[in-house]
Amino acid sequence: MEKILISSCFLGNKVRYDGESKSLMHPQLQTWKDEGRLVVICPEVAGGLSVPRARAEQSKDLVFDEFGNNVTEQFKRGANEALRLCQQHNIRYALLKEFSPSCGGRMIYDGTFSGTKVRGMGVTAKLLSQHGIDVFSEESVEQLILRVNQ
Ligand code: SF4
Repeated sequence: MEKILISSCFLGNKVRYDGESKSLMHPQLQTWKDEGRLVVICPEVAGGLSVPRARAEQSKDLVFDEFGNNVTEQFKRGANEALRLCQQHNIRYALLKEFSPSCGGRMIYDGTFSGTKVRGMGVTAKLLSQHGIDVFSEESVEQLILRVNQ
């Protein structure tokens, strides 16, 4: 059975920096959940960060929070834990939240905390991608469904 790694906040878990979730409503997700296909992680919490926490953005290969603290190690730890879960469950697909400095698969914020988005991948999305795991987002969930069901 194909399993899928999924951002915890998509499932209504209040793990975001602001203490909120980012629920992704799609009937297929409930089906996959009922089938036991979803492997859930919030990489930032897995990396040791708290809820709520300061906003963070990538700047080159580092990650800083909005107060200038370097949180790169926590982000890397979370990414490694996500990869470990993928390897443990033979996961080939991840459904991750776009724009997040951990989970973004196509676009992220530019490190200036000005709301500017640039092309790029979050720390976890990038590590998974480098290991052959295909990263999808809320914007490409239909493609993921086709891929899993083919
Ligand atoms: Fe959601 Fe990923 Fe941010 Fe955690 S790190 S709150 S799973 S987008």
